[in-house]
Amino acid sequence: MKSNQVNRRNFLRLSATAGAAFALKPAGIQAAEVAGSETKMPERTLGRTGIKLPLLSMGVMRADNPAVVRAAYNAGIFHFDTANGYQNGKNEEMLGEFFSGKPRDSYILATKVKTGTGENAAAQFLEKFETSMKRLKMEYVDILYFHALSSPDEVNFPGVVETMVKLKKSGRVKHLGISTHSNEPAVIDAAVDNGNYDVVLTAYNFNQGHLAELNAAIDRAAGAGLGVVAMKTMAGGYLDKERTKKVNIRAALKWAWQNPNIHTAIPGFTSFDELEECLDSVNHLEMTPEEKSFLSAVNCKNGLYCQGCKSCIAQCTQHLPIPDMMRAYMYSYGYRSPLLAKETILALNLPDNPCKKCTSCNVACTKGFQVAEKISDITRLQQIPNDFLV
Ligand code: SF4
Ligand code: SF4
Repeated sequence: MKSNQVNRRNFLRLSATAGAAFALKPAGIQAAEVAGSETKMPERTLGRTGIKLPLLSMGVMRADNPAVVRAAYNAGIFHFDTANGYQNGKNEEMLGEFFSGKPRDSYILATKVKTGTGENAAAQFLEKFETSMKRLKMEYVDILYFHALSSPDEVNFPGVVETMVKLKKSGRVKHLGISTHSNEPAVIDAAVDNGNYDVVLTAYNFNQGHLAELNAAIDRAAGAGLGVVAMKTMAGGYLDKERTKKVNIRAALKWAWQNPNIHTAIPGFTSFDELEECLDSVNHLEMTPEEKSFLSAVNCKNGLYCQGCKSCIAQCTQHLPIPDMMRAYMYSYGYRSPLLAKETILALNLPDNPCKKCTSCNVACTKGFQVAEKISDITRLQQIPNDFLV
């Protein structure tokens, strides 16, 4: 068995080892040096926050097993990313329980709040933040993201930005950030120009069609001192709806880490086996021939991953939020998380059949998606009770 393997059999043994290691060391972040890994994971500094993070962090979004979180923590991962909306709050509650009683300087916790940009946006933002803090049972969070932004106007939305700045001044938030998985280059540029943000959390994967622009924006952000965190690194997990073409986890992560301005990545592993693959990747950064061959066989026209370019919205007679619906489609078929897909669809406040006024579809998606077909498929989830979904 490899030294960094973490699975159901050895999990308890590793937990005990980690507990002993923490007891012997002074306070502070040191998980990268303990249990489950004889070699310390490579680290990068998250921009001007000054936080040194292992390249591998945990996107907790879909994880609902605290034992997997514990295994990650004990294996040296100490940056955990959640959001107010994940699992209808249960995700934050799980992390609140898990971290209760643990040294506050032994982990970095990031959460995200999504709100509209209407009149009450700032009040909504604050209310959701307070809810998150109750669930997390923490005096502060390390990073608070203004979540899922797709335009510079949203990045600069005055009421929300002022609210975030006040939270930072109060000490209840250490660093401010934005997250984006649509129109990322423009959103990242706006975050740099805004001046209040310390971190950008961006979609970043081998399957994106606008990598030249995105890499340039990431370089500018890092050059300006912002920390850069990569999400959606698996490009949906599978390349097809039928799940016959799995994304090579190791290749996807190593590809993202090749960019020195990606300071850490938050893959959303949900099982011990996936955690083990992520740990093996971070400890063996050089790509194997098989991993290179996976990457060279994929191009941005393949797969379930919507590029977030938004060019479909202006073409759609109803100006539907098609990129968000395509993301929900990916959650359902790529991640096999229909509940997350349903939450994503419900947040869009769509009618039962959003395309019913059209006899044919005008939209020519840059990726080649038959968007009306996918919309009809994914919006059916609105009618299905949660009990039938996982
Ligand atoms: S069929 Fe649907 S996606 Fe296509 S133009 Fe009409 S409303 Fe928009
Ligand atoms: S045009 Fe296609 S790839 Fe671009 S945002 Fe719309 S659905 Fe996604």
